Amino acid sequence: MTLPTRFPPLLTFGAFPESIAHRLGQVFQLYDPDDLNVDPALHDRIEGIVTRSNYRIPQELLERLPNLGIIATNGVGYDGIPLAYTKSRGIVVTNTPDVLNKAVAELAIGLLLAILRHLPQADQFVRTGAWQTRPFPLGTTLAGKKIGMVGFGRIGKEIAKRFAPFDVDVAYFGRTQQQVEPVYFNDLKTLASYADVLIVCCPGGPDTYQIINADILRALGPAGVLVNISRGSVINEADLCKALGDGTILGAALDVFNEEPLADSPLRRLGNVVLAPHMGSATHETRMEMAELAIQNLTRYFTYGQAVTPVTG
Ligand code: NAP
Repeated sequence: MTLPTRFPPLLTFGAFPESIAHRLGQVFQLYDPDDLNVDPALHDRIEGIVTRSNYRIPQELLERLPNLGIIATNGVGYDGIPLAYTKSRGIVVTNTPDVLNKAVAELAIGLLLAILRHLPQADQFVRTGAWQTRPFPLGTTLAGKKIGMVGFGRIGKEIAKRFAPFDVDVAYFGRTQQQVEPVYFNDLKTLASYADVLIVCCPGGPDTYQIINADILRALGPAGVLVNISRGSVINEADLCKALGDGTILGAALDVFNEEPLADSPLRRLGNVVLAPHMGSATHETRMEMAELAIQNLTRYFTYGQAVTPVTG
């Protein structure tokens, strides 16, 4: 296949599913950071980077690319990109908002049901034949529960929509009250005391660093459940492990972690937590939509100097 020659080559940062790498390769000549060592002249030719939002891009890499103009991340979060530095150099950063809302919302509901009804354990119970020896432990019903959303943006609202048939009450916390239906709490601890379930869907970064800590988990209480589909940095993981271990809260379901992939963490040994490998947007359909939006950002930037969904924060 002949690649269009008008777009400069791209550096890919991080691993992409094969179908996505293939699609990107139809539009751009792709290189990875190792290629920079093989061909030093490449440093000058790279004008764009494509990455995924669960990777942290080191500033040192960007410093080696004098003509870099754009970093297109596949994802909403951009807390892994050194924004102060990109801003200082006028490098455009783009993300892929909205196209992944539904997939992430589906996962949030799935994780919540998985922890409340012990779905991973239930699967093992049947597979291992334990069902033939004893009854399965009772779970917790979702109906009638109070749900506290920590952050009520694009994804938070999609999650709340999906709660409609579950017969629950939804409230939210954020820095600003919105003209929306759910009850607003201007204080996270008060929301945690009110809620049976806390769903974390605010951005990561310095403003939300470990806002979920021992104090908040105590307020959530022994019947409380925590779901995190936002960023691992929002939760103090040591406090969470302690709270899960000593019954301060009932359980947690986590798609995101402080360090990813999750290494040898106590979380892996706790029975009252459901773990997922940062897979909120990981469906064929959604990842392709995200890639198409990233491609549009790159091609528009290289053609007109303006991206479709630049990050403004
Ligand atoms: P969004 O539309 O920008 O919504 C973020 C919400 O968080 C807003 O309601 C905002 O309200 C609130 N917020 C911001 N700063 C806050 C703070 N310091 N304290 C409390 N609330 C705060 O973002 P989104 O598209 O819903 O995405 C949310 C996050 O989900 C992303 O940033 C990303 O980290 C994560 N995500 C995860 C996955 C996954 O695979 N698990 C996939 C996509 C996205 P105020 O401004 O009023 O505070």
